[in-house]
Amino acid sequence: MNLNNILTSGHSFTEGEYALKSKFILLNSLIFLSITVVFILTIVLVYHGKIFFAMANIFYILSGLYSIKLLRKNKTNQKYIIVVISLLSLLLVVIAISKYPSEEVRFVWFPAIIISSFFLGGKKLGYIVAFLSVLSIIMLEYLIDTGLNNYTTFLAIIIILFSTTIIALYERREFILKEELLSMNQYLEDKVKKEIQKRLAMYEKTHNQLQESAVKLEEQKNAFKNLAHYDTLTGLPNRLLFYDRLEKVIENAEKNDQKFSILFLDLDNFKEINDSFGHDVGDDLLKIVAEKFQNRISKSDLLARLGGDEFTLVVGGWRNTEHIASIADRLIHALSEPIYILGYEIYITVSVGISIYPDDGMDIATLLKHSDSAMYSAKNEGRNLYHFYKQIMTDQALERVTLETRMRKALENNEFIIYYQPIVNGVTSELIGLEALVRWQHPEKGLLTPDKFIHIAERTSIIIPLGEYVMNKVAGQVKDWHEKGFNPSYISINLSVNQLRHKKLLSNINNMLEKTNFRDDWLEFEITESYAMKNPEESIEVLNQIKALGVKLSIDDFGTGYSSLSHLKKLPVDKLKIDKAFISGLPYDLDDKILVATIVSLAENMNLKVVAEGVENEEQKKYLENIGCIYMQGYLFEKPVDYTIINKKYCKV
Ligand code: C2E
Ligand code: CA
Ligand code: CA
Repeated sequence: MNLNNILTSGHSFTEGEYALKSKFILLNSLIFLSITVVFILTIVLVYHGKIFFAMANIFYILSGLYSIKLLRKNKTNQKYIIVVISLLSLLLVVIAISKYPSEEVRFVWFPAIIISSFFLGGKKLGYIVAFLSVLSIIMLEYLIDTGLNNYTTFLAIIIILFSTTIIALYERREFILKEELLSMNQYLEDKVKKEIQKRLAMYEKTHNQLQESAVKLEEQKNAFKNLAHYDTLTGLPNRLLFYDRLEKVIENAEKNDQKFSILFLDLDNFKEINDSFGHDVGDDLLKIVAEKFQNRISKSDLLARLGGDEFTLVVGGWRNTEHIASIADRLIHALSEPIYILGYEIYITVSVGISIYPDDGMDIATLLKHSDSAMYSAKNEGRNLYHFYKQIMTDQALERVTLETRMRKALENNEFIIYYQPIVNGVTSELIGLEALVRWQHPEKGLLTPDKFIHIAERTSIIIPLGEYVMNKVAGQVKDWHEKGFNPSYISINLSVNQLRHKKLLSNINNMLEKTNFRDDWLEFEITESYAMKNPEESIEVLNQIKALGVKLSIDDFGTGYSSLSHLKKLPVDKLKIDKAFISGLPYDLDDKILVATIVSLAENMNLKVVAEGVENEEQKKYLENIGCIYMQGYLFEKPVDYTIINKKYCKV
């Protein structure tokens, strides 16, 4: 659509068209009027027997009627008709005067015809008719005696010329006025056109701007849509879009009677990495992990990030469980290489849970719940694994939830008790310390070891009150032993990562020392190697604060993590505890032998004490003695036992 079209559309009459129309009406009426007049005259003439003149009049009437007919047929005929009628009228007047020369009044017809000619035929015809009129008067006067005296003739001619001049002047004025009007019209038209053009340009400009902002709006809309459906960090579909697509996948599978599987992927220890290296590194890590996953799946599979470090993958095109297992393997393998971010070398692993439609569930909620349970089971079994869902996992999950609530109750009911396991000098069998190990005296299930509940306590916040509980109990026990005159040398307490990160840790330790009259020589904490090594800056600071309280520190499960010597040197620790996994292979497993010997010489070089955990037989004990590791802990000497047993065996009271 264009405004120009509006401007040029519709019909406006031109000057000529208007003139033609008005002339046509005037001509018609004049001819009609003259015919009527001549007709009346003809009747009078016939009545008086003046036949010749009556004949002339009839001829005039007939030609008048014929002219009207021609005019009706085609308006443009008026061009000729005006001339012919004017001349015929003139002729009729000349005939009339020549016939009745004494009737001077007939001269009046001359000006009438001249005026009509001017108006109807224009200037040219007007002048011609005026000229012919004057000529006719002179001729009539000369050829026949009209009876006019010279003065009257002269006056008639003067009147004719005068009226001609007046009309010419009037015409001229009309013409000028018309010109002015025209130019004024033109000026106005130009102005209007310009204004319209200006508005048109303005309109087009705003139109363009509008279009631009419409495009921007569309872009923004899309961005919002993206925001609502895609995870901004990884660019993967988010939970919303995932649910949406999964619903369609389920519909499709139901219609076509097909199977498909859902993989639930959860990064192991991501929280620790996030806390240790900072959120920026955590974010980068998620991005890289998402990319690695994406590169190892087929385009038709749906990978999404549900939030945090949880990803889901829907694998369509069902083949068999081996196929799904190979995909899970591939995803686990995708993270086998370390990831480098901001100069850090980061190792991350993933645990995968798999559920299959329709075997493990028919709807989103069930399928996701079951793949989550399978993932949880994989995590429990040691992480970096995949598990297919089994019914028993749901039972276990239920058990977990009930266990969690039960544990809170158990804390209130004092159901947790502390067992102590002696640490001895293997050569002399002399007691050098005790490790405090928590147990849960469950009213129905009996005595539970930490592997049944400590991981749940660590996953929830229960580990904090449970840790405080252990410290209190141990401090009470130590106070009691001191009062009885029994000095177990030292007691070591295990601290988990979450306890080490808890802000109340130092004040809790202080309370414990206060309870034992500020003796600090009896207390030792065991921290895991992974905590000490994964984030050295943080751990060095925390460990130094603990050390400042006069408490000793040992690194537990040493050998399982990835200690770097340079970090180890900086840690304010007193002791290494060799993980029992390496002791069990002694003295036959060559790798274990080398590793244990290396740790022992390393500890010696660094001036650290070393304890071998899990010593179960004489052969192990011998080997350890031979390489100079004399401090030992294990079933060979004593299992973790109740304080009453310790009392009996060591306290002798
Ligand atoms: P851990 O710190 O490595 O504790 C040593 C574990 O090895 C104990 O298991 C102990 O019973 C077991 N053990 C000792 N000697 C032998 C042996 O000769 N052979 C074998 N096979 N095992 C032996 P337990 O008591 O079941 O504790 C398991 C883990 O639970 C502990 O591992 C520790 O990490 C954690 N834990 C125990 N008590 C606490 C606690 O109060 N707080 C925290 N945060 N963790 C605790
Ligand atoms: Ca320990
Ligand atoms: Ca240990």
